Amino acid sequence: LSRALAEPMYFGGGIVHTSASIGVATPETLELDELLAGAEAALSQAMRSGPGSIQRFSSDLRDRLSRQSALIRSVDTGFANSEIRAWFQPQINTDTGEISGFEALARWQHPQLGTLAPGEFLEAVRHAGRMPALGHTMLEQALAAITFRDRKKLKVPTVSVNFSPDELRERGMVERVKWEVDRHNLAPERLTIEILESVAALSNDDIILRNIDGLRSHGFRMDLDDFGTGQASIANLRRFGVQRIKIDRSFVTELDQDEEQRSIVAAILSLAEHLKVETVAEGVETQAEHATLAQLGCDHVQGFGVSKPMPFDQTFAWINQHRERIQKPPQIGRKTG
Ligand code: C2E
Ligand code: CA
Ligand code: CA
Repeated sequence: LSRALAEPMYFGGGIVHTSASIGVATPETLELDELLAGAEAALSQAMRSGPGSIQRFSSDLRDRLSRQSALIRSVDTGFANSEIRAWFQPQINTDTGEISGFEALARWQHPQLGTLAPGEFLEAVRHAGRMPALGHTMLEQALAAITFRDRKKLKVPTVSVNFSPDELRERGMVERVKWEVDRHNLAPERLTIEILESVAALSNDDIILRNIDGLRSHGFRMDLDDFGTGQASIANLRRFGVQRIKIDRSFVTELDQDEEQRSIVAAILSLAEHLKVETVAEGVETQAEHATLAQLGCDHVQGFGVSKPMPFDQTFAWINQHRERIQKPPQIGRKTG
């Protein structure tokens, strides 16, 4: 089947290349009434493995599926019991060392499974049709966090929230976001919306384009996430009026030791400079990476090397400690004890 479908086809005067993802289930592994569901499960696994994959149903896959459907069933309770919450990871200005913002990242404090990262539960939330609920929860908690910190005199310029493609396609989204920000009495630039570069590359999706225009016209800040992986055109970067591009972690890893990584990042930084947008490097894990990025002229850094994402109530102590650290730079050679 796969080979037959890989043959080029002549269509509408041109040549079309196709590939097939194939899921296989056989009566040896499954009861008759489960066959079709099994083959579909194997198919969706095959589709995740990339174009042209063939996947056979296995008991491993069955276990994974039953865990997944249990998780999907607990999504509603997760929201109802506020188990799904925003954690926060700081971003640092490489010039001043000051905190330039926090990114809100979703965590699920699951009563049986412990703390789950988005990679373990976003799919289940999407399957349960609750992505809008996730978006609302994250926005609400991010705005509440920034308001609360303002009141505690721990003002941080902006908080970033990840918007899924579904959210960006939602009608009335711009008005809803504006209403939420107004309700918290915040200036629009206190909210940064992270849009995946791959979404920004969908230049023919009218609703997304209109919503992005709307967000920009209200003065919200916009970051282009996972930059370098999503093939947005330079024209799109211009058109969206993003304030910053977030250089994907894959280019940042070990750039202090790897000449090739360094030249990719340098090229992105120079592009950003010409387009007059700021830059933030993601996934900065070591001091050496941080220093190299600062030296190359990257404006902000974010990563485990600064801090891992943390629950909201831990951010206060972290901000205070960080402020003490930057007021007292490390005294090299000072005797201790
Ligand atoms: P992202 O937006 O690219 O977020 C950065 C991810 O990299 C986070 O993973 C963060 O914990 C991780 N990270 C940060 N610094 C480092 C580092 O130094 N080293 C390494 N190895 N990793 C680092 P996380 O929290 O697991 O989130 C994964 C993805 O899930 C996010 O990628 C984002 O695309 C998505 N996501 C998270 N929260 C939300 C949300 O509220 N809504 C939507 N739509 N997507 C979300
Ligand atoms: Ca992000
Ligand atoms: Ca990212």
